[in-house]
Amino acid sequence: MVTRRIFLKQAGLAGAGLITAPRFVMAQQAATTVPDRVRQFRNDGANTPIKVTKLRENLFLLQGVGGNMLAQTGPDGTLLIDSSASTAAPHIREALQGLNAPPLKLLVNTHWHYDHTDGNAALHDSTGVFIIAHENTRRRLSTPQEIAFMQMHFAPDPPAALPQQTFTDHQKIFLNNDELHLVHFPPAHTDTDIYIHFVNANVLHAGDTFFNGFYPFIDGSTGGNLRGMVRAAETCLALADNETKIVPGHGPLGDKASLQRYQAMLSDVADKVEKLKASGKSREEVVAARPTSKYDAEWGKGLLSPDQFAALAYQTL
Ligand SMILES: [Zn+2]
Ligand SMILES: [Zn+2]
Repeated sequence: MVTRRIFLKQAGLAGAGLITAPRFVMAQQAATTVPDRVRQFRNDGANTPIKVTKLRENLFLLQGVGGNMLAQTGPDGTLLIDSSASTAAPHIREALQGLNAPPLKLLVNTHWHYDHTDGNAALHDSTGVFIIAHENTRRRLSTPQEIAFMQMHFAPDPPAALPQQTFTDHQKIFLNNDELHLVHFPPAHTDTDIYIHFVNANVLHAGDTFFNGFYPFIDGSTGGNLRGMVRAAETCLALADNETKIVPGHGPLGDKASLQRYQAMLSDVADKVEKLKASGKSREEVVAARPTSKYDAEWGKGLLSPDQFAALAYQTL
């Protein structure tokens, strides 16, 4: 995505009539490196207002395009979890203004995927926000990546998008009278996932280890696997009580009961697919055996079809 900025710069030069032939060629090449899905995502981000839901006195769920965001406000400044699309940055700033939020100080990324980090550079450039994430998120954002399942290829992000502070296992942040635990999951949705637990507020952001209400995407090409997803859900459940508000990466706000249903579904599908795979069945045979059939009516109407989820389960087990 470093090329995106170069492209915009080039496009600006083109508009001023200053373009030269080699630059034009570069601009074209740069443009082709942005996957169509990301272009669409940015188009949507420009046109989608942010829906704000108050979770606690100073904690707000922000939903626009991409992953669910969470904002914590208070005397120490505003903290934001995940950054949506680059084009959503003005909408995010507007939503925070609407909350009378103090200046944006910290941005935490739950993992490297573009639907959670594409807005990093735009927010960093416009507010100076300091970005924190797992070290694997920085590593992946700063090097070429692919999401094989979606046939998406990513160029490295510009420096402004990269986390300025990283950690290996866990990190504690004491902010706005709360204690935040940022903890790395062993590979689950990717190898970059963390949860953010607001201990006093009893709110947990589970990132994309939790898709509330539909089959989750698992990015096997950057370290994700279904067993890790099951374990991540168990880790989050151990932190939750009946009052905990659990923010999924995608879907509506969750709680312990919804996360329990999700964990039970994932665990059962993993067992079934594992058994089929151990008996020597091919991917196509496993998909044809419909190992998710019991759950399809409830969970099969989201991002992934039942067949796609069964294939992902097979590939990542
Ligand atoms: Zn996501
Ligand atoms: Zn993701």
